[in-house]
Amino acid sequence: MSRHTRGMIQFMPDGTEKQINPFTGTEVWFIPERKNRPIYTHIPVKTEKIEKKDPEDYCNFCPAQYFNTPPEKARVIFQDGHYIYHDRVNPEDIFSGHAEFRRIPNLFEIVTINYWKRNFTYRLSKLNRNWKERYLSTDIGRNHALSVINLKLKYSGYKEDDIKSIMPSEKFELADAFFGGGHELVISKRHYIENAKYTSQLASSGELSTKEHFQYFIFTLKAIKDIYDNNRYVRYVAVYQNWLKEAGASFDHLHKQLVALDEWGVSLEREIDKAYKQPNIYNEAAANYASYNNFVVCENDYAMAFIDIGHRHPTIAIYSKSTNCRPDEHTAEELRGFSDVVHAIHKATGSQISCNEEWYFMPRDCTVPIPWHIMIKWRINIAAGFEGGTKIYVNSMSLKELRDTLVPRLFELRTEGKIAWMNIAEECPVKPNSLKYYKRGIL
Ligand SMILES: [Zn+2]
Repeated sequence: MSRHTRGMIQFMPDGTEKQINPFTGTEVWFIPERKNRPIYTHIPVKTEKIEKKDPEDYCNFCPAQYFNTPPEKARVIFQDGHYIYHDRVNPEDIFSGHAEFRRIPNLFEIVTINYWKRNFTYRLSKLNRNWKERYLSTDIGRNHALSVINLKLKYSGYKEDDIKSIMPSEKFELADAFFGGGHELVISKRHYIENAKYTSQLASSGELSTKEHFQYFIFTLKAIKDIYDNNRYVRYVAVYQNWLKEAGASFDHLHKQLVALDEWGVSLEREIDKAYKQPNIYNEAAANYASYNNFVVCENDYAMAFIDIGHRHPTIAIYSKSTNCRPDEHTAEELRGFSDVVHAIHKATGSQISCNEEWYFMPRDCTVPIPWHIMIKWRINIAAGFEGGTKIYVNSMSLKELRDTLVPRLFELRTEGKIAWMNIAEECPVKPNSLKYYKRGIL
């Protein structure tokens, strides 16, 4: 092992693995005898027959419930073989078609619009102000906005009478959160897969076609850009996807979340600091290290996926190999290739495993090159109980076990044509320094 990677994993004679994450310093142990629950199953334990509804109407993110969520910032529809984007959708157009993906404000923002208004004197951009005026100028738009505001107040603990006593002008002020807030959701069309019969047949990321998954990424990138363009104080947009309850999702309906931030967040700051001191760290401590230890599970010309070390949950890291660091700087081919690898990991994971997808990329005001990467974390762990005092986390799955679960599945899926063509396991070229981010600005 090189000086950069010494001691990152220790394999002990009894099969215990001790791992230290090179970016966070998190210490994680895998102890063979603590394997306490099945980790991979194709047959869900609990499943019920579903009543077919067209359009789908199983939760507030479903197509039949468009008006239960705040005004739509954007949507993409599939028409005559093309994806067509609509920005700042007018209320009368909402039910005129079925959106493949929709972008809406989160009703309960983590970082609220008042955070921006009070700390930065932020005001809605002209574009958003105009959209708000246009939206509220029609009966249908006004009623929609008011009904969602009333719903929000109700969920926030207000009594019926109190809600009635709030002046409409005050409520329209609250609606600024819908037209210019910085916590958004990108929601996929389907709740269940097409022709689903059982509640277990949820339309997860892996159930999208590769083409749809690519579209999901393009649409999310457009959302990041729009957030940056309309709030000058935003330094970074956190992007993540919580799949199923254990991962923190409120609905079992596929969606990503985007949160505008005035800082980079501790974990990214720490990574960038490391990359500043050790510019090739993402190759040395991540991609190269994974390849020397046979943890790479799949790779194409644009991205690679490997089992990542030192996480509290079994984690697969997917890295873009591009010299372009920020997501929106990727060419269409690079983005498609990266999306294909992320999709393949989701498809191999299956829709029954609860997971988090976390994005990490170079913030707008950062000058240190870092590669765009995504972590997919399986939320299958049960806390061992001694983490608090020791800061040693116990992961219920070994690195090799996670790899050996995914690899055969990837081969199967590739043969069945359910994932894009890519190299798997030993087929991967795993060239040293595959991640070319460090050449940013040099080529
Ligand atoms: Zn739904």
